[in-house]
Amino acid sequence: MNKLKKNSNLELKDGARIAVLGGGPAGSFFSIFALKLANQIGKDIDLTIYEQKSFLNEGPSSCNMCAGVVSESLVQLLAIEGIILRPPILQRAIDTYCFQTISGDVLLHSISNQSGIATVYRGGGPVCKSTSEKNEKPDSGKISFDDFLIDCAKKEGANVENIRVDKVKLNNEKPEIFSKGEKLFDADLVVGACGINANAVKMFEKLGIGYTSPSVIKAFQSEIHIGERNVSTLFGNAIHIFLINQPDVKFSAITPKGSYVTISMLGKNITKQTVVDFLNNPLVKNKFPDSWRTPDAFCRCVPMINVGAARHPFANRIVMIGDASSARLYKDGIGSAYLTAKAAANTAILYGVSRAAFYKHYYPTCKKINRDNFFGKLMFTLTNTINKTPIIREALLTVLRSEQKQPESDHKCSTVLWDMFTGNERYTDIFIRAFNPRLLLRFLINIFNVIFIWFKNMWRQ
Ligand SMILES: Cc1cc2nc3c(=O)[nH]c(=O)nc-3n(C[C@H](O)[C@H](O)[C@H](O)COP(=O)(O)OP(=O)(O)OC[C@H]3O[C@@H](n4cnc5c(N)ncnc54)[C@H](O)[C@@H]3O)c2cc1C
Repeated sequence: MNKLKKNSNLELKDGARIAVLGGGPAGSFFSIFALKLANQIGKDIDLTIYEQKSFLNEGPSSCNMCAGVVSESLVQLLAIEGIILRPPILQRAIDTYCFQTISGDVLLHSISNQSGIATVYRGGGPVCKSTSEKNEKPDSGKISFDDFLIDCAKKEGANVENIRVDKVKLNNEKPEIFSKGEKLFDADLVVGACGINANAVKMFEKLGIGYTSPSVIKAFQSEIHIGERNVSTLFGNAIHIFLINQPDVKFSAITPKGSYVTISMLGKNITKQTVVDFLNNPLVKNKFPDSWRTPDAFCRCVPMINVGAARHPFANRIVMIGDASSARLYKDGIGSAYLTAKAAANTAILYGVSRAAFYKHYYPTCKKINRDNFFGKLMFTLTNTINKTPIIREALLTVLRSEQKQPESDHKCSTVLWDMFTGNERYTDIFIRAFNPRLLLRFLINIFNVIFIWFKNMWRQ
């Protein structure tokens, strides 16, 4: 309390100026919440979003490069805020996850029996490479989720400048931002919502406020055109997770969109050839039309994914949010952008923009995400081990298949997998549920069963 009082001159007064660096989900969410809250308490703030991209064009340069899956919990939170995802922003509503392994596949359906997960494009959609793509490309104009969010922020009163900020400077503790040598803004607060795919985080590291950007790994994204009818009949409303032991690949998934499927891959040194090998794997090929051949060229990008927390993501008059601060491991990054943006906006408007205020009211949200990621790491190590061990993988599939025949209240293992891959629940809760003694016992019995059947078959041979 004393610390807060000492910094009371860092409260945002009427007419205070906020510069939001980055108009991805974190920047737009921050702007929406800060402006809404300021309006509710009768505070007048002047907020400008600086975004270097236009999200209206096709291809990676106009896109914030991600699989574009908006979790069920975030779709609901956004609806409460009056942000409703509808076509053409909504590409497909997802109600099923399909786990494909070399020992077979299993379908997990939404527990709520609703198509509550949304798939979207972050930019203006994939670059059209072939004539068939160009023929089927919707001409409905705006489809970008990020552009839609920026529009929501504009409606709350945000100014938006299509400018790349190239310098942030502290002048008597008041941050100033620059582009091409020209001072753009003298800010009462600078919000670092620049993600981790641009060099902007380095500008904040150089400020000497102790900020260190999160650790990252490379991911590989490809958009493959197969036509709207094929997407509907072959993939339906299901995200396909492939656990197929491809060398150097940790994770691969196919997400259905309008007339494209998005392929997301994580692992070491993934290249276009790794994607082609993936598409040529019999299990994957089986999902595509018989006559279909892997195209020579397709829209692809190699974005970074946040796999660790930033250090000191705030200082007097500066706060880092979204990917530039903390994000859930491998899941629901847009949901983390929402959480960190909301906590930072509440702090700035209600408690001020001092380091102490951010430490007390904003940092707990980051710490909660970071702590939860510890359990996330354990859960992903466990699923990797299961996938690489045929006996345990077989036992898991047996448990899942037998659960599908039971009443929903018995779907213990299915809900663990569903929540883990949809990003619907905290990893800590999933971890506790995964180590439920009844579930472990059922799993153990199935492992013995699998071993028994293997020995029986060997004996017969
Ligand atoms: C392969 C992959 C798949 C993913 N899939 C999903 C998924 O399915 N669902 C999900 O929820 N999350 C997913 N994520 C994570 C998700 O993309 C991020 O967590 C989310 O985009 C973070 O939002 P952000 O606003 O913090 O950053 P970003 O989305 O990166 O936005 C930052 C913005 O700042 C702008 N900017 C940067 N520097 C400057 C500058 N100097 N001047 C002006 N503007 C600037 C950028 O142009 C950009 O628009 C995925 C990530 C990867 C890599």
